[in-house]
Amino acid sequence: MAAPSMFRLDGKIALVTGASRGIGRACAEALASQGALVIVHYRSGEDAAKGVEAAIVAKGGKAETCAFDVADTGATETAIEGLIKRHGRLDILVANAGISIDGLLLRLKDDDLDLLFHTNVRGAIVCARAATRSMMRTKRGRVIFVSSVVGETGNGGQTAYAATKAALLGAAKSIAREYASRQITVNVLSPGFIDTDMTSSMTDAQREALVKAVPLGRTGSTADVAAACVYLASDEASYVTGQVLRVNGGMYV
Ligand code: NAP
Repeated sequence: MAAPSMFRLDGKIALVTGASRGIGRACAEALASQGALVIVHYRSGEDAAKGVEAAIVAKGGKAETCAFDVADTGATETAIEGLIKRHGRLDILVANAGISIDGLLLRLKDDDLDLLFHTNVRGAIVCARAATRSMMRTKRGRVIFVSSVVGETGNGGQTAYAATKAALLGAAKSIAREYASRQITVNVLSPGFIDTDMTSSMTDAQREALVKAVPLGRTGSTADVAAACVYLASDEASYVTGQVLRVNGGMYV
């Protein structure tokens, strides 16, 4: 007899923010490959998001797209309420959408600081607030925040970005405690240096120096992060909440 397959997500409804490319795209495709219906969220990359939807459907999966700016609280609330109404519920939220703006502290602009916090922190928390309204009713759910290794280690030139990623740890741990009695788990994925558009502007020298700081000796792939996302979203992770799952090649242990 064949062993039952693990980490299946058949029948689950998942929203992945910022799924038009990079880590979000990989998470969306991986969740769909396990049977979830995935809402591929984007802000401006409509063609890219439609491409993700088509790729999922071509492999026999279920997907649809949805656009809103996570930095716009009203638009975020309205869109997620609409999704919950249409599908009847939301089982999984991967709050992945994020931006990075790097620079030394002395040159940090107030507007950039605000944009980073509105997008990376307030955006993720507002998504969680809207999504958990449905999860409270169904008494089950998975919330996954996407933080970063620099939120735990800090990094010169990334004060504001690192602060937003550190903030997600406090938020996730608090929401985990608040909603544990409803069987809603809330965890953090903390990627290290992953090859995506966000990291593509690095020079070869910067990249080389960074890889030297990775004990496993390579940059991470979006698939490395997506595998951890599937685990946290699965029924098999039902006793795991308030945790930080680090996918960083040993950069921070
Ligand atoms: P990416 O390739 O730059 O993709 C970012 C995604 O977020 C896009 O889908 C983008 O949508 C969406 N997005 C950005 N701002 C948005 C907004 N205001 N409202 C809605 N969607 C928005 O980034 P990535 O490298 O995959 O990173 C994904 C997450 O992982 C981020 O939270 C990042 O901080 C974190 N992370 C990345 C790394 C890394 O090495 N790459 C390491 C640690 C953590 P549009 O394209 O439609 O605008």
